[in-house]
Amino acid sequence: MRYARTVADLVGNTPLVRLNHVTDGIRATILAKIEYFNPGGSSKDRIAANIIDAAERDGLLRPGGTIVEPTSGNTGVGLALVAQQRGYRCVFVVPDKVAEDKRAVLRAYGAEVVVAPTAVEPDDPRSYYSVSDRLVAEIPGAFKPNQYDNPHGPRSHYESTGPEIWRDTDGRVTHFVAGVGTGGTITGTGRFLKEASHGAVRIVGADPEGSIYTGGPVHSYFVEGVGEDFWPKAYDPSVVDELHRVGDAESFAMTRRLAQEEGLLVGGSSGMAVVAALRAARDLDEGAVVVVLLPDHGRGYLSKVFDDGWMHAHGFETGPTPTDDAGSDA
Ligand code: PMP
Repeated sequence: MRYARTVADLVGNTPLVRLNHVTDGIRATILAKIEYFNPGGSSKDRIAANIIDAAERDGLLRPGGTIVEPTSGNTGVGLALVAQQRGYRCVFVVPDKVAEDKRAVLRAYGAEVVVAPTAVEPDDPRSYYSVSDRLVAEIPGAFKPNQYDNPHGPRSHYESTGPEIWRDTDGRVTHFVAGVGTGGTITGTGRFLKEASHGAVRIVGADPEGSIYTGGPVHSYFVEGVGEDFWPKAYDPSVVDELHRVGDAESFAMTRRLAQEEGLLVGGSSGMAVVAALRAARDLDEGAVVVVLLPDHGRGYLSKVFDDGWMHAHGFETGPTPTDDAGSDA
């Protein structure tokens, strides 16, 4: 019989699929790594087990303990999956821009959800970072994974995401593209691929307009899970060779194209990463193999990126809408 011992054992080994339609005019092969095949639906499942294992080993998390974390949703799902299997309670602090659908998912896994405002400074007592710090201080036996600074985040990608890409491309990958949130994905995966290829693989980051990584004025934006307003320790900028700044409108337009043309229902940060991948691939020839990581599923964004009303209300174009108007003579 072939079966997994627990659902947490199904994390990783996500597939690569070639993009065929959004790649018009591109000669390089563009391969998308589909992270929604992870059991919690995102790349963040990878870091959860690693971080919890380490916390148990270091005595930071004991039986009956509580995991408290500021998270835009995906890390919460990964942590909740693992915590549930091991009997820990979870309290997650989410920014208010995170869709209600995503908060409902966290509650469905049995976690408690606290909502904090996005439009305040990180050191403001109302910010989602401050609120989580206060909860950690107040709840006995609380452990805060702190994905922004936790070295086990990038390490999980060094140990899984990177080797999977190297193995599945037979070492032919020439470029790796990922959005930068905590920076864990690009740092860990990029470091592995650089080492495996003796520095030949080029590492390309994508950053939302308004985030700190590409400079320029820091302001709020709508794409979720990527960009920061401070420098996390999980991000090592020395691994990144090139960084593209992508606006919400372009990210969302590409996200919708991925669903309509490639059959890939993914989140806005995936659209953003693909925009960066296509920019990086513009002048590459047929021999180049560009792997772009698509972090999560689009189902959590049905009321946003995939909702015409929401898009128009926020000033985003939705393109020509297919009409089902059969005419009055039907
Ligand atoms: N996209 C989404 C939807 C995410 O939740 C995250 C994680 N915050 C990322 C991209 C970026 O990954 P990382 O934190 O590893 O940089």
